[in-house]
Amino acid sequence: MKTTICNSLLLSFIFLFIGCANDNTTVNTTGTDSELPVLPVITLNNYYADIVNQVSQEELNNTLQIYELFGNKQTGSNQLEQVQAWIENTYTDLGYTDVKIHSFPFENTSSNNIVITKKGTKFPDTYVILDAHYDAVFKGTNDNGSGTAILLELAKLFKDIDTEYSLKFIHFSGEENGLIGSNAYVTQEVIPNNMDIRLVFNIDQVGGAVGKNNVLVCEKGTANPGIVKQASEAFTLALAEAAKLYSSVKTEIGNAERSDYIPFENNGEIITGIYEKNGDSNPTYHLETDLLENMDLPFFTEVTKATAGAMLHFTGAEEKVF
Ligand SMILES: [Zn+2]
Repeated sequence: MKTTICNSLLLSFIFLFIGCANDNTTVNTTGTDSELPVLPVITLNNYYADIVNQVSQEELNNTLQIYELFGNKQTGSNQLEQVQAWIENTYTDLGYTDVKIHSFPFENTSSNNIVITKKGTKFPDTYVILDAHYDAVFKGTNDNGSGTAILLELAKLFKDIDTEYSLKFIHFSGEENGLIGSNAYVTQEVIPNNMDIRLVFNIDQVGGAVGKNNVLVCEKGTANPGIVKQASEAFTLALAEAAKLYSSVKTEIGNAERSDYIPFENNGEIITGIYEKNGDSNPTYHLETDLLENMDLPFFTEVTKATAGAMLHFTGAEEKVF
């Protein structure tokens, strides 16, 4: 009986923390290896807004042009290796020092995920992961040059910002072949190292279709019960709120499916993601016409701003004191 009382007291505390989550305490949940993160409370932060407003449509356009020029990007191709080198160089040129390759077997050869880590100030062993696949069915400027370009844009914005939580940018390969790269990463890195992950935020095909009234779907994880599901929903609602505060993009809430967050979700992690609405019915979906000229660049720029705003909150970006 004593145990029961203690447990219900603990549960009350946990729900108290969910209800008024505005500090950085983490609470261990009983019976699982997961921790309930403090959920972000999204209110407009003018310092964050100044950073978000540095997002440049021109630069995004340039990045997408470069990505497109590499040609077709199937996993295992020479072109994809060249894209990999370009992504690595972009980070090292920005001054990132922890740029690692994670190799995994693919058919008779191997392919590479690219993992960039930036240490947090307060919780250096707890990670917010922002990921996007960089392989494609053909040239794939929308699917998934769009996700690739957002990571590179945020890498630039976050370079000189301290964050409370550690941040990992991960560019996955093998997504179009069945989430092979992300599955390998979870199996070979996350599980053996018992990696403490606050959130996985996946970006896949968010460039929109030219001439359409494009809408962004914020995707919550639904596979895990209890606290993980609750936290995933809360982060996803926070993401939609950040989109409203830091961009003009229209959002809807949907369910996560068929992209690189799924192996993490299967491992019990808290996930969220973004995907353009009607992505599968985009006339260029998985075709040779998936090109920059068929994307909605102003929409994509606003999506990038929404992502930047949300990530500043999710990582606990610290305001610089001058
Ligand atoms: Zn994709």
